[in-house]
Amino acid sequence: MERAKAGVTSSAVPDSHGINLYCADPSFGPLLKHHLGDRLFYHLEPHFVRLGELAGGELDDLAALADKHPPVLHPRSRRGEDTAIIERHPAYRRMEHVAFADYGLAAMSHREGVLDWPETLPPAAKYALSYLFVQAEFGLCCPLSMTDSLTRTLLRFGSPELVARYLPGLTAGDLDHITQGAMFITEQGAGSDVGSVATEARLDNGEWKLYGEKWFCSNADAGLAMVLARPQGAAAGTAGLALFLLPRELPDGRPNQYRILRLKDKLGSRSMPSGEIRLEGAIAYLVGDIDRGFAQMTDMINMSRLSNGMRAAGMMRRSLTEALFFARRRSAFGRRLVELPLMQRQLVKLMLPAEQARSMMLLAAQLLARADGGDEVARKLIRIVTPLIKFRACRDARRVTGDAMEVRGGCGYVEEWPDARLLRDSHLGSIWEGTGNIVALDVMRSIRREQTGTALASDLGKRIAALNLAPAGWRVLLESTLQRTFEFAGRAANASDGNGDPVLARQAASALYHLTSAVAMAEEAHALPGDSRRLLLAKLVLEHRVLPKDPLAAADTARETAVNAALLDETPLNAQALF
Ligand SMILES: Cc1cc2nc3c(=O)[nH]c(=O)nc-3n(C[C@H](O)[C@H](O)[C@H](O)COP(=O)(O)OP(=O)(O)OC[C@H]3O[C@@H](n4cnc5c(N)ncnc54)[C@H](O)[C@@H]3O)c2cc1C
Repeated sequence: MERAKAGVTSSAVPDSHGINLYCADPSFGPLLKHHLGDRLFYHLEPHFVRLGELAGGELDDLAALADKHPPVLHPRSRRGEDTAIIERHPAYRRMEHVAFADYGLAAMSHREGVLDWPETLPPAAKYALSYLFVQAEFGLCCPLSMTDSLTRTLLRFGSPELVARYLPGLTAGDLDHITQGAMFITEQGAGSDVGSVATEARLDNGEWKLYGEKWFCSNADAGLAMVLARPQGAAAGTAGLALFLLPRELPDGRPNQYRILRLKDKLGSRSMPSGEIRLEGAIAYLVGDIDRGFAQMTDMINMSRLSNGMRAAGMMRRSLTEALFFARRRSAFGRRLVELPLMQRQLVKLMLPAEQARSMMLLAAQLLARADGGDEVARKLIRIVTPLIKFRACRDARRVTGDAMEVRGGCGYVEEWPDARLLRDSHLGSIWEGTGNIVALDVMRSIRREQTGTALASDLGKRIAALNLAPAGWRVLLESTLQRTFEFAGRAANASDGNGDPVLARQAASALYHLTSAVAMAEEAHALPGDSRRLLLAKLVLEHRVLPKDPLAAADTARETAVNAALLDETPLNAQALF
């Protein structure tokens, strides 16, 4: 009765199933147009629309199904052969088809002609499409990223013979002929401390054979894996590690000598098999320089870290889209949730990290393209931006997915809705490819050893100087914040004996991330005529993430509510009016 009086026509819980996740995100298209350029954007736009539709409908259903039916390992055949077949659910197979074959997500950086584009596609295109895909399915993004980054590492460091033998499979457009990639580094005694890897490589009649156990092997039955192992007699630590390419099947068709012992029962990414592997004299091919195994592997790890940042950004956007959809349609106490000031604050707290991560993803794409084109400054910049996005965006995704779950109320906690899966999946990003601590320490190491802090400070300084759209006082504030942030990061990276103060690593990495994302968003605001909402978001990042704040001071809530309502509307905005 009460509800009817308040004008609510239906008490059913709003259900977003079937919405187009690209069209439901009105900022994305204009941003992509800016980052991709008109020609590529208009070429890809129908694909964005189509993938957005799939992600909100069919892929979402398939992802839910695959999550509930994880892969199963069949270690032996009925005749007792150690075949180690991993059975995946048909729903996962269908998603593989969409990702690998229909969209060529793993191949588009290496093969021309994917999605009818005459050249290889730039990182921004790959991340944009993958960002849409991951909004439905997270687990499969690991094999996609592994295949993509293994191909890159092979092309950079592998011999021409290895490239000729394996590139066609790695970049195939037909699912029956695709060779997928994996990366086996972690052992029970060597996780963060990669230098403790004990897997041994023995040279036997001119062939390298691997012996040891790998403890976490995602996409465990991949056709090819990059493996770190220590050649017999090599030095201890990372300096003694060499990089090997491990085929699942030998060129003569025989299975290689390793066994998948078990699959892990995981909190998230349940659709994809992560296993334990025993190498029993498996034949592997040396990749690149025997003394530079770890350095070469770092390239693959960094690509994977970037991909994790992108995935975190995508999952946050999905959570935000769901929360906005619900809050715009659900009513309580006679008003739509999105009109309630406290809910508005909660929603903007989801929006801000989601937008930061998206701008960082697009900035990283831009820098990666420049670095791969030979730009030395960009190489330093991508070196630091990679661990920054991996560290902070993955961390933020844990909170955003959880808080978005709360927006849906009780249903958010029920496995039929996407929130629980998003929450479970989002926790992985902060653990694999280096935990939060390890990645924050890597930021500090890059500042200390490779002067990436100097490069980033100078780059951001130039970008701020060009921000003539922003009010002058705010630009000055940005400049002084830049100075303070880099002073602090420099101190954290080089403290006391020149080795840095590890206790400050996360704090410094967070500050660098927030500042960089604020500058990137303000810069994007310039490029989007008629809509300076990203300038307002940049200002909020500074106010709430970087500048000092008194937790007991009451906010100017009237102003805050006006800003929040304007942002949540997701329509073009004159942000200067709200500064
Ligand atoms: C689902 C899943 C899939 C995975 N897939 C793969 C894969 O395909 N290939 C692969 O090689 N690995 C994979 N991993 C392994 C993953 O990369 C490692 O688990 C991760 O690097 C951490 O290593 P660890 O588990 O040995 O933890 P540890 O290294 O033992 O770390 C334990 C804790 O100690 C902290 N710590 C360690 N050193 C420091 C320090 N110096 N200062 C402060 N804190 C520190 C860490 O942050 C962490 O919190 C996967 C993991 C998971 C969960």
